[in-house]
Amino acid sequence: MDKYQQSQKNKLFKTPPHDPYCLPRVEGSAVCPQCDAVYQAGNWTWNRPENAVVHDAQTVTCPACRRIADNMLAGTLMLSGGFLQKHHDEIIHLIENTEKTEMAEHALERIMRVTEVADDLMVTTTGIHLANRLAHALEGAFKGKAQYRYGDSQYGVNVTWARNE
Ligand SMILES: [Zn+2]
Repeated sequence: MDKYQQSQKNKLFKTPPHDPYCLPRVEGSAVCPQCDAVYQAGNWTWNRPENAVVHDAQTVTCPACRRIADNMLAGTLMLSGGFLQKHHDEIIHLIENTEKTEMAEHALERIMRVTEVADDLMVTTTGIHLANRLAHALEGAFKGKAQYRYGDSQYGVNVTWARNE
């Protein structure tokens, strides 16, 4: 394999960049003062298994609350097409329900904002998984076409979903 092939291979298999908001890791356990998420064994969750653990926990603002405070989104989902205008409320409903399900499983995956941009709808998220899951849910429920573009050097994803009629 020559140098060119090697560099192409590296590009292809490059591991996705880490979320800078998840570093540095917290030592021990912690509780977020804003959303009550609990940090334990390397993960932020909603579980509070033992009161004693939480009692000794430090107070650390979780990565999702920090992203919201800094307005630093990780995922963007742009919805467009004529179908969106006709089925606006159903689509919003699906987005809200999908967020609820995802957030119950993954405490750091949240919607930051849902904004109308001309005829389109922009949804920003604190995690890349939620943006992906929303697009999959839209395709599952309403068909249409989703496209995913991951950040090259930055942690993040841009997703578009469109359906014309
Ligand atoms: Zn929090």
